[in-house]
Amino acid sequence: MFKLKIHWQILIALILSVPFGFFFPQYVDYVSWLGDLFLRALKMIIVPLILTSIVSGVTNIGDAQNLGKLGLKTILYYLSTSLAAILVGLTLVNLLQPGVGADLNFNKNVEEFGLVSDTLGNVLLRMIPANIFEALVSADMLAIIFFSILLGFFITKIADEYKTPLINLFNSGFEVMMKLTSFIIKFTPLGIFGIVAVVVAENRDSLPEIAGRLSVYMAAVLLGLIFHAFITLPLFLRIVGKVNPLAHFKAMTAPLLTAFSTSSSSATLPLTLEAVEHYSGVSNKITSFVLPLGATVNMDGTALYECVAAMFIAQAYGIELSFIQQAVVVFTALLASIGAAGIPMAGLVMITVILSAVGLPLEGVGLILAVDRILDMCRTTVNVWSDSCGAAIIAKTEGEQLLVDIK
Ligand code: ASP
Repeated sequence: MFKLKIHWQILIALILSVPFGFFFPQYVDYVSWLGDLFLRALKMIIVPLILTSIVSGVTNIGDAQNLGKLGLKTILYYLSTSLAAILVGLTLVNLLQPGVGADLNFNKNVEEFGLVSDTLGNVLLRMIPANIFEALVSADMLAIIFFSILLGFFITKIADEYKTPLINLFNSGFEVMMKLTSFIIKFTPLGIFGIVAVVVAENRDSLPEIAGRLSVYMAAVLLGLIFHAFITLPLFLRIVGKVNPLAHFKAMTAPLLTAFSTSSSSATLPLTLEAVEHYSGVSNKITSFVLPLGATVNMDGTALYECVAAMFIAQAYGIELSFIQQAVVVFTALLASIGAAGIPMAGLVMITVILSAVGLPLEGVGLILAVDRILDMCRTTVNVWSDSCGAAIIAKTEGEQLLVDIK
Protein backbone atom coordinates (compact mmCIF):
# COMPACT_ATOMS: atom_id res chain seq x y z
CA MET A 1 0.00 0.00 0.00
CA PHE A 2 1.15 3.56 -0.71
CA LYS A 3 2.48 5.04 2.44
CA LEU A 4 4.17 8.40 2.78
CA LYS A 5 7.51 8.50 4.54
CA ILE A 6 7.37 10.11 7.94
CA HIS A 7 9.29 13.23 6.94
CA TRP A 8 6.82 13.93 4.13
CA GLN A 9 3.98 13.53 6.56
CA ILE A 10 5.67 16.00 8.91
CA LEU A 11 6.30 18.48 6.11
CA ILE A 12 2.68 18.34 4.98
CA ALA A 13 1.46 18.81 8.55
CA LEU A 14 3.77 21.78 8.93
CA ILE A 15 2.60 23.40 5.70
CA LEU A 16 -1.08 22.88 6.47
CA SER A 17 -0.76 24.18 10.01
CA VAL A 18 0.39 27.65 8.92
CA PRO A 19 -2.74 28.75 7.01
CA PHE A 20 -4.89 27.00 9.60
CA GLY A 21 -3.35 28.95 12.49
CA PHE A 22 -3.35 32.16 10.51
CA PHE A 23 -6.86 32.18 9.10
CA PHE A 24 -8.68 30.26 11.81
CA PRO A 25 -7.04 31.33 15.08
CA GLN A 26 -10.39 30.85 16.83
CA TYR A 27 -10.26 27.12 16.09
CA VAL A 28 -6.71 26.36 17.22
CA ASP A 29 -8.03 25.30 20.61
CA TYR A 30 -9.49 22.28 18.90
CA VAL A 31 -6.09 21.09 17.71
CA SER A 32 -3.74 22.44 20.38
CA TRP A 33 -4.19 19.28 22.44
CA LEU A 34 -2.49 17.29 19.69
CA GLY A 35 0.64 19.33 20.20
CA ASP A 36 0.36 19.16 23.99
CA LEU A 37 0.04 15.39 23.95
CA PHE A 38 2.97 14.99 21.62
CA LEU A 39 5.23 17.29 23.63
CA ARG A 40 4.26 15.57 26.87
CA ALA A 41 5.12 12.20 25.35
CA LEU A 42 8.52 13.46 24.24
CA LYS A 43 9.20 15.02 27.61
CA MET A 44 8.11 11.79 29.26
CA ILE A 45 10.94 9.86 27.67
CA ILE A 46 13.64 12.49 27.65
CA VAL A 47 15.09 11.97 31.15
CA PRO A 48 15.22 8.15 31.06
CA LEU A 49 16.50 8.37 27.50
CA ILE A 50 19.38 10.68 28.41
CA LEU A 51 20.29 8.68 31.51
CA THR A 52 20.29 5.27 29.82
CA SER A 53 21.86 6.45 26.58
CA ILE A 54 24.78 8.22 28.23
CA VAL A 55 25.47 5.48 30.76
CA SER A 56 25.33 2.78 28.11
CA GLY A 57 27.32 5.00 25.72
CA VAL A 58 30.08 5.58 28.24
CA THR A 59 30.27 1.93 29.31
CA ASN A 60 30.46 0.87 25.66
CA ILE A 61 33.26 3.29 24.93
CA GLY A 62 35.25 1.30 27.43
CA ASP A 63 38.43 2.45 29.08
CA ALA A 64 39.33 5.89 30.31
CA GLN A 65 41.70 6.53 27.46
CA ASN A 66 39.06 5.97 24.81
CA LEU A 67 36.52 8.00 26.70
CA GLY A 68 39.01 10.82 27.07
CA LYS A 69 39.82 10.75 23.37
CA LEU A 70 36.20 10.73 22.32
CA GLY A 71 35.28 13.37 24.88
CA LEU A 72 38.07 15.63 23.70
CA LYS A 73 37.08 15.27 20.03
CA THR A 74 33.46 15.97 20.89
CA ILE A 75 34.29 19.11 22.86
CA LEU A 76 36.66 20.30 20.15
CA TYR A 77 33.90 19.92 17.55
CA TYR A 78 31.35 21.73 19.72
CA LEU A 79 33.66 24.65 20.43
CA SER A 80 34.96 25.11 16.91
CA THR A 81 31.57 25.04 15.19
CA SER A 82 29.96 27.30 17.78
CA LEU A 83 32.80 29.77 17.48
CA ALA A 84 32.56 29.69 13.69
CA ALA A 85 28.83 30.42 13.98
CA ILE A 86 29.41 33.36 16.33
CA LEU A 87 32.00 34.90 14.03
CA VAL A 88 29.59 34.70 11.09
CA GLY A 89 26.98 36.44 13.26
CA LEU A 90 29.44 39.11 14.37
CA THR A 91 30.46 39.85 10.81
CA LEU A 92 26.86 40.16 9.63
CA VAL A 93 25.73 42.35 12.50
CA ASN A 94 28.65 44.72 11.88
CA LEU A 95 27.92 44.84 8.17
CA LEU A 96 24.15 45.21 8.32
CA GLN A 97 24.03 47.36 11.49
CA PRO A 98 20.41 46.38 12.17
CA GLY A 99 20.20 48.23 15.49
CA VAL A 100 21.35 51.63 14.33
CA GLY A 101 18.34 53.93 14.53
CA ALA A 102 16.01 51.23 15.87
CA ASP A 103 13.34 52.86 17.96
CA LEU A 104 13.43 52.13 21.64
CA ASN A 105 9.70 52.34 22.22
CA PHE A 106 9.19 49.12 24.08
CA ASN A 107 5.80 47.61 23.60
CA LYS A 108 6.52 44.29 25.22
CA ASN A 109 6.83 43.56 28.84
CA VAL A 110 10.13 42.00 29.81
CA GLU A 111 8.97 40.99 33.25
CA GLU A 112 6.48 38.47 31.98
CA PHE A 113 9.44 36.32 31.03
CA GLY A 114 10.86 36.45 34.53
CA LEU A 115 14.28 37.40 33.26
CA VAL A 116 16.93 37.07 35.90
CA SER A 117 20.54 37.43 35.09
CA ASP A 118 22.56 34.31 35.63
CA THR A 119 26.28 34.33 36.25
CA LEU A 120 28.65 32.01 34.47
CA GLY A 121 29.93 30.64 37.76
CA ASN A 122 26.39 29.65 38.57
CA VAL A 123 25.95 27.80 35.29
CA LEU A 124 29.09 25.78 35.98
CA LEU A 125 28.17 25.15 39.60
CA ARG A 126 24.76 23.83 38.65
CA MET A 127 26.38 21.14 36.54
CA ILE A 128 27.11 19.23 39.70
CA PRO A 129 23.80 18.17 41.17
CA ALA A 130 23.51 18.44 44.94
CA ASN A 131 20.81 15.81 44.72
CA ILE A 132 20.63 13.60 41.65
CA PHE A 133 17.00 12.70 42.23
CA GLU A 134 16.05 16.33 42.34
CA ALA A 135 17.97 16.84 39.09
CA LEU A 136 16.08 13.95 37.51
CA VAL A 137 12.74 15.22 38.72
CA SER A 138 13.33 18.75 37.48
CA ALA A 139 14.89 17.51 34.21
CA ASP A 140 18.07 19.46 34.84
CA MET A 141 19.93 18.21 31.79
CA LEU A 142 23.47 19.41 32.46
CA ALA A 143 23.39 17.88 35.94
CA ILE A 144 21.92 14.61 34.62
CA ILE A 145 24.58 14.40 31.93
CA PHE A 146 27.36 15.05 34.42
CA PHE A 147 26.09 12.34 36.76
CA SER A 148 25.49 9.86 33.91
CA ILE A 149 29.02 10.20 32.58
CA LEU A 150 30.45 9.56 36.04
CA LEU A 151 28.10 6.65 36.64
CA GLY A 152 28.96 5.06 33.31
CA PHE A 153 32.65 5.57 33.87
CA PHE A 154 32.69 4.01 37.32
CA ILE A 155 30.55 1.09 36.26
CA THR A 156 33.49 0.07 34.07
CA LYS A 157 35.73 0.19 37.12
CA ILE A 158 33.97 -2.40 39.28
CA ALA A 159 34.42 -6.16 39.41
CA ASP A 160 32.98 -8.16 36.50
CA GLU A 161 30.27 -9.85 38.53
CA TYR A 162 28.78 -6.42 39.40
CA LYS A 163 29.65 -4.72 36.19
CA THR A 164 27.94 -7.09 33.74
CA PRO A 165 24.41 -6.88 35.16
CA LEU A 166 24.62 -3.10 35.39
CA ILE A 167 25.85 -2.75 31.82
CA ASN A 168 23.08 -5.09 30.70
CA LEU A 169 20.54 -3.12 32.66
CA PHE A 170 21.46 0.21 31.08
CA ASN A 171 21.83 -1.27 27.59
CA SER A 172 18.41 -2.88 27.89
CA GLY A 173 16.97 0.32 29.29
CA PHE A 174 18.31 2.25 26.33
CA GLU A 175 16.95 -0.32 23.86
CA VAL A 176 13.47 -0.12 25.30
CA MET A 177 13.55 3.68 25.38
CA MET A 178 14.47 3.69 21.71
CA LYS A 179 11.57 1.35 20.93
CA LEU A 180 9.26 3.66 22.80
CA THR A 181 10.75 6.56 20.86
CA SER A 182 9.98 4.91 17.53
CA PHE A 183 6.40 4.51 18.66
CA ILE A 184 6.03 8.15 19.70
CA ILE A 185 7.66 9.35 16.48
CA LYS A 186 4.74 7.92 14.52
CA PHE A 187 2.59 10.69 15.97
CA THR A 188 4.97 13.50 15.03
CA PRO A 189 2.90 14.85 12.11
CA LEU A 190 -0.20 15.24 14.27
CA GLY A 191 1.79 16.76 17.11
CA ILE A 192 3.47 19.21 14.83
CA PHE A 193 0.21 20.30 13.29
CA GLY A 194 -1.08 21.15 16.76
CA ILE A 195 2.08 22.93 17.89
CA VAL A 196 2.63 25.06 14.81
CA ALA A 197 -1.01 26.06 14.37
CA VAL A 198 -0.94 27.50 17.90
CA VAL A 199 2.38 29.27 17.38
CA VAL A 200 1.15 30.86 14.16
CA ALA A 201 -2.14 31.95 15.75
CA GLU A 202 -0.34 33.45 18.75
CA ASN A 203 2.21 35.30 16.67
CA ARG A 204 -0.07 36.84 14.09
CA ASP A 205 0.21 40.17 15.89
CA SER A 206 3.97 40.31 15.45
CA LEU A 207 3.67 40.53 11.70
CA PRO A 208 4.10 44.30 11.56
CA GLU A 209 7.35 43.95 13.50
CA ILE A 210 8.54 41.12 11.32
CA ALA A 211 7.92 43.21 8.25
CA GLY A 212 8.98 46.49 9.78
CA ARG A 213 11.59 47.69 12.16
CA LEU A 214 12.89 44.28 13.18
CA SER A 215 13.26 43.00 9.66
CA VAL A 216 16.95 43.84 9.30
CA TYR A 217 17.72 42.28 12.65
CA MET A 218 15.86 39.13 11.65
CA ALA A 219 17.62 39.11 8.31
CA ALA A 220 21.00 39.29 10.06
CA VAL A 221 20.16 36.30 12.27
CA LEU A 222 18.60 34.28 9.46
CA LEU A 223 21.37 34.96 6.96
CA GLY A 224 23.91 33.90 9.56
CA LEU A 225 22.00 30.72 10.33
CA ILE A 226 21.65 29.89 6.64
CA PHE A 227 25.34 30.48 6.06
CA HIS A 228 26.29 28.28 8.99
CA ALA A 229 23.88 25.49 8.11
CA PHE A 230 24.50 25.38 4.38
CA ILE A 231 28.15 26.41 4.07
CA THR A 232 30.15 26.07 7.27
CA LEU A 233 28.74 22.77 8.54
CA PRO A 234 28.68 21.04 5.13
CA LEU A 235 32.34 22.05 4.74
CA PHE A 236 33.12 20.49 8.10
CA LEU A 237 31.20 17.37 7.03
CA ARG A 238 33.01 17.09 3.73
CA ILE A 239 36.51 18.03 4.69
CA VAL A 240 36.86 16.67 8.21
CA GLY A 241 34.33 13.85 8.02
CA LYS A 242 34.34 12.82 4.35
CA VAL A 243 30.58 12.66 4.66
CA ASN A 244 28.16 13.59 1.87
CA PRO A 245 26.37 16.67 3.30
CA LEU A 246 23.29 16.33 1.12
CA ALA A 247 22.77 12.68 1.94
CA HIS A 248 23.20 13.40 5.64
CA PHE A 249 20.80 16.34 5.40
CA LYS A 250 18.15 14.15 3.80
CA ALA A 251 18.62 11.56 6.52
CA MET A 252 17.96 14.29 9.09
CA THR A 253 14.70 15.64 7.64
CA ALA A 254 12.38 14.39 10.36
CA PRO A 255 14.40 15.66 13.36
CA LEU A 256 15.12 18.98 11.63
CA LEU A 257 11.44 19.61 10.94
CA THR A 258 10.64 18.61 14.50
CA ALA A 259 13.30 20.93 15.89
CA PHE A 260 11.83 23.75 13.80
CA SER A 261 8.32 23.05 15.04
CA THR A 262 9.03 22.43 18.72
CA SER A 263 11.87 24.94 19.25
CA SER A 264 13.45 22.43 21.58
CA SER A 265 16.63 20.44 21.01
CA SER A 266 15.87 18.29 24.03
CA ALA A 267 12.39 17.37 22.88
CA THR A 268 13.83 16.57 19.44
CA LEU A 269 16.59 14.36 20.85
CA PRO A 270 14.63 11.09 20.53
CA LEU A 271 14.12 11.73 16.81
CA THR A 272 17.72 12.86 16.34
CA LEU A 273 19.04 9.67 17.93
CA GLU A 274 16.88 7.49 15.77
CA ALA A 275 17.67 9.30 12.50
CA VAL A 276 21.44 9.56 13.00
CA GLU A 277 21.60 5.91 13.86
CA HIS A 278 19.19 4.43 11.34
CA TYR A 279 19.46 6.73 8.34
CA SER A 280 23.03 8.01 8.57
CA GLY A 281 24.38 4.79 10.00
CA VAL A 282 26.35 6.16 12.94
CA SER A 283 27.01 3.51 15.58
CA ASN A 284 25.08 3.45 18.78
CA LYS A 285 28.32 3.85 20.68
CA ILE A 286 28.87 7.32 19.21
CA THR A 287 25.28 8.59 19.02
CA SER A 288 24.45 7.65 22.58
CA PHE A 289 27.36 9.72 23.83
CA VAL A 290 27.58 12.64 21.39
CA LEU A 291 23.91 13.46 20.77
CA PRO A 292 22.49 13.77 24.30
CA LEU A 293 25.49 15.88 25.22
CA GLY A 294 25.10 17.96 22.07
CA ALA A 295 21.39 18.61 22.64
CA THR A 296 22.27 20.46 25.82
CA VAL A 297 25.75 21.80 25.22
CA ASN A 298 26.24 22.30 21.49
CA MET A 299 24.05 25.10 20.16
CA ASP A 300 25.58 26.78 17.15
CA GLY A 301 22.36 28.51 16.16
CA THR A 302 21.85 29.86 19.65
CA ALA A 303 25.47 31.02 19.86
CA LEU A 304 25.12 32.99 16.63
CA TYR A 305 21.81 34.44 17.72
CA GLU A 306 23.18 35.48 21.14
CA CYS A 307 25.94 37.44 19.48
CA VAL A 308 23.72 39.16 16.91
CA ALA A 309 21.04 39.99 19.47
CA ALA A 310 23.47 41.47 21.98
CA MET A 311 25.16 43.56 19.30
CA PHE A 312 21.76 44.67 18.01
CA ILE A 313 20.78 45.86 21.48
CA ALA A 314 24.07 47.74 21.84
CA GLN A 315 23.52 49.42 18.48
CA ALA A 316 19.95 50.33 19.36
CA TYR A 317 21.16 52.08 22.52
CA GLY A 318 23.80 53.85 20.47
CA ILE A 319 26.60 52.20 22.42
CA GLU A 320 29.78 51.59 20.45
CA LEU A 321 31.44 48.40 21.60
CA SER A 322 35.22 48.39 21.54
CA PHE A 323 37.18 45.50 20.08
CA ILE A 324 37.74 44.08 23.55
CA GLN A 325 34.03 44.38 24.38
CA GLN A 326 33.14 42.59 21.16
CA ALA A 327 35.57 39.85 22.14
CA VAL A 328 33.75 39.62 25.46
CA VAL A 329 30.47 39.31 23.54
CA VAL A 330 31.91 36.45 21.49
CA PHE A 331 33.22 34.63 24.53
CA THR A 332 30.05 35.06 26.60
CA ALA A 333 27.87 34.14 23.61
CA LEU A 334 29.76 30.88 23.45
CA LEU A 335 29.26 30.23 27.15
CA ALA A 336 25.63 31.32 27.01
CA SER A 337 24.96 28.81 24.24
CA ILE A 338 26.56 26.08 26.31
CA GLY A 339 24.56 27.05 29.38
CA ALA A 340 21.23 27.42 27.56
CA ALA A 341 18.85 24.53 28.08
CA GLY A 342 17.43 22.80 25.02
CA ILE A 343 13.98 24.25 25.56
CA PRO A 344 12.01 27.02 23.83
CA MET A 345 13.29 30.55 24.49
CA ALA A 346 16.20 29.43 26.65
CA GLY A 347 18.49 31.45 24.42
CA LEU A 348 16.51 34.62 25.03
CA VAL A 349 16.96 34.25 28.77
CA MET A 350 20.69 33.64 28.40
CA ILE A 351 21.19 36.96 26.62
CA THR A 352 21.12 38.58 30.02
CA VAL A 353 24.48 36.92 30.70
CA ILE A 354 26.03 38.79 27.79
CA LEU A 355 24.27 42.05 28.47
CA SER A 356 25.51 42.15 32.03
CA ALA A 357 29.02 41.11 30.98
CA VAL A 358 29.39 44.16 28.73
CA GLY A 359 27.24 46.46 30.84
CA LEU A 360 24.21 46.84 28.60
CA PRO A 361 20.72 47.41 30.04
CA LEU A 362 18.72 44.21 30.55
CA GLU A 363 15.57 45.94 29.29
CA GLY A 364 17.15 45.75 25.87
CA VAL A 365 15.75 42.25 25.66
CA GLY A 366 12.34 43.87 25.26
CA LEU A 367 13.41 45.06 21.82
CA ILE A 368 13.69 41.58 20.39
CA LEU A 369 10.89 39.74 22.18
CA ALA A 370 8.34 40.15 19.41
CA VAL A 371 10.20 38.08 16.90
CA ASP A 372 11.91 35.66 19.22
CA ARG A 373 9.68 32.69 18.60
CA ILE A 374 10.30 32.52 14.89
CA LEU A 375 14.05 32.97 15.39
CA ASP A 376 13.95 30.31 18.09
CA MET A 377 12.49 27.84 15.59
CA CYS A 378 15.26 28.56 13.13
CA ARG A 379 18.16 28.52 15.59
CA THR A 380 16.95 25.28 17.16
CA THR A 381 16.97 23.64 13.73
CA VAL A 382 20.59 24.71 13.28
CA ASN A 383 21.43 23.46 16.79
CA VAL A 384 20.10 20.00 15.98
CA TRP A 385 21.71 19.99 12.54
CA SER A 386 25.09 20.74 14.11
CA ASP A 387 24.65 17.98 16.71
CA SER A 388 23.93 15.47 13.97
CA CYS A 389 26.90 16.64 11.88
CA GLY A 390 29.10 16.26 14.95
CA ALA A 391 27.98 12.67 15.48
CA ALA A 392 28.71 11.80 11.84
CA ILE A 393 32.11 13.51 11.81
CA ILE A 394 33.23 11.97 15.08
CA ALA A 395 32.08 8.53 13.92
CA LYS A 396 34.19 8.93 10.81
CA THR A 397 37.27 9.95 12.77
CA GLU A 398 36.75 6.75 14.75
CA GLY A 399 36.97 4.79 11.53
CA GLU A 400 33.27 3.99 11.09
CA GLN A 401 31.62 3.38 7.72
CA LEU A 402 28.41 5.38 7.34
CA LEU A 403 25.40 5.18 5.04
CA VAL A 404 26.06 8.81 4.09
CA ASP A 405 29.73 8.46 3.18
CA ILE A 406 31.04 10.14 0.06
CA LYS A 407 30.82 7.36 -2.46
N1 ASP B 1 15.30 26.58 21.82
C1 ASP B 1 16.70 26.35 21.65
C2 ASP B 1 17.00 24.86 21.69
O1 ASP B 1 16.28 24.11 22.27
C3 ASP B 1 17.52 27.04 22.68
C4 ASP B 1 17.38 28.51 22.47
O2 ASP B 1 16.42 29.09 22.97
O3 ASP B 1 18.21 29.09 21.78
O4 ASP B 1 17.95 24.41 21.10
